[in-house]
Amino acid sequence: MLAAIKRGQYPRGMDFDTIILGAGAAGMFCAIEAGRRGRRVLLIDHARKPGEKIRISGGGRCNFTNFHIAPEKFLSQNPRFALSPLKRYTQWDFIDRVDRAGIAWHEKTLGQLFCDGSAGEIIDMLRQDLADAGVTLWLETKVDAVRSNGAGFEVVTSDRPVNADTLVVATGGKSIPKMGATGLGYRIAEDFGIKVVPTRAGLVPLTFAPHLLEQTKELPGVSVTARVSHGRTSFDEGLLFTHRGLSGPSILQISSYWQEGDALQVDLAAGHDVPEMLNDERRSNGKLSIKNALARHLPEKLAVLIVRSAGLTGNLADQSKADLARLEAALHKWQVKPSGSEGYRTAEVTLGGVDTAALDARTMQAKAHPGLFFIGEVVDVTGWLGGYNFQWAWSSGWVAGQVC
Ligand SMILES: Cc1cc2nc3c(=O)[nH]c(=O)nc-3n(C[C@H](O)[C@H](O)[C@H](O)COP(=O)(O)OP(=O)(O)OC[C@H]3O[C@@H](n4cnc5c(N)ncnc54)[C@H](O)[C@@H]3O)c2cc1C
Repeated sequence: MLAAIKRGQYPRGMDFDTIILGAGAAGMFCAIEAGRRGRRVLLIDHARKPGEKIRISGGGRCNFTNFHIAPEKFLSQNPRFALSPLKRYTQWDFIDRVDRAGIAWHEKTLGQLFCDGSAGEIIDMLRQDLADAGVTLWLETKVDAVRSNGAGFEVVTSDRPVNADTLVVATGGKSIPKMGATGLGYRIAEDFGIKVVPTRAGLVPLTFAPHLLEQTKELPGVSVTARVSHGRTSFDEGLLFTHRGLSGPSILQISSYWQEGDALQVDLAAGHDVPEMLNDERRSNGKLSIKNALARHLPEKLAVLIVRSAGLTGNLADQSKADLARLEAALHKWQVKPSGSEGYRTAEVTLGGVDTAALDARTMQAKAHPGLFFIGEVVDVTGWLGGYNFQWAWSSGWVAGQVC
């Protein structure tokens, strides 16, 4: 296992070929590749341990990739940009690596691959590879400044200044600041005159204004399979009512497309024509109350709210066509306007970032600054929920690692 070299323990005056800022998924992967090429690599992070987001990912089991990697599963001002790295280092390459490390995995749903055991197995694999590749890892090291020094780059750290020919920025986004996210990579890009696409929280729970919270106050904890749509984009996955608004996979997914002020269309019983089913039931069981009839298809608390909001009372037999049409609107075509999102505090990712137009997709190198690379989440490439973001980290880290 790699022993971290701590502040003050490294011989003074020693330079490196490559310095990588950020020992997350992308930075570690890039460092391994560069180290395997014989480069003298220094990997710096201010955290106590590398790969902290890997550790907490996928509910502790790390959803490390997805069978269905494709450009349309990524958001970016130029979604085609991701194609080249994703094709050069694919999900099959990563699966092969996990297999070779003897890590057992399974497909959960929608092509999402998780460790059978814990996310720690992925971190152990990467740490072993870092050690084998001879990478120097400085943890608990703050980056104070980064500058170009003509021949290469100087990084001023809380330990001491270090120089290298090339510099890779892999400091991730702004999500979950308490896990070490700082936004440093965006500041470095701007210092080098590289455009940063405005950032916002993605894969994040959405919040309600007080009047909507009042309407849904009985529902926190209730979950259904829903179709949530924003324009032409829809996700059919779980939806969870919370004390703040809405969460669950369908909401996290659509949150990356949603902007403040937008409404969402929600089908709370996706894949079922509930009014039609109630119509059928009316013939055989007309005396059943509309509330109890609906509760056969939905969680009871939600059924009560839908019946109330559609203004329905009485038995199935009492319901007119117009009543069932109102039920259909309340259930299958709920228009809801979240007031905001929970923000970076709970967001899984940061949308926006270093403009892909400034980078060469074959190498992740800044076109105007030879030797300067940006990889992983700091770049304006954001995947759907489901292993897409780690695959982007592996792929972009791998391509940079071939040349940096
Ligand atoms: C709760 C949660 C669960 C997730 N689950 C999944 C999942 O199952 N599957 C999936 O594909 N994606 C998941 N993601 C998203 C995924 O974790 C990220 O997309 C991925 O970690 C990005 O990798 P990265 O290396 O670019 O950045 P990061 O993993 O964020 O790594 C950046 C590193 O840079 C370091 N750093 C930052 N600023 C500084 C600084 N100023 N000085 C020194 N070091 C610095 C940080 O400490 C960190 O180690 C999840 C995210 C969260 C928050």
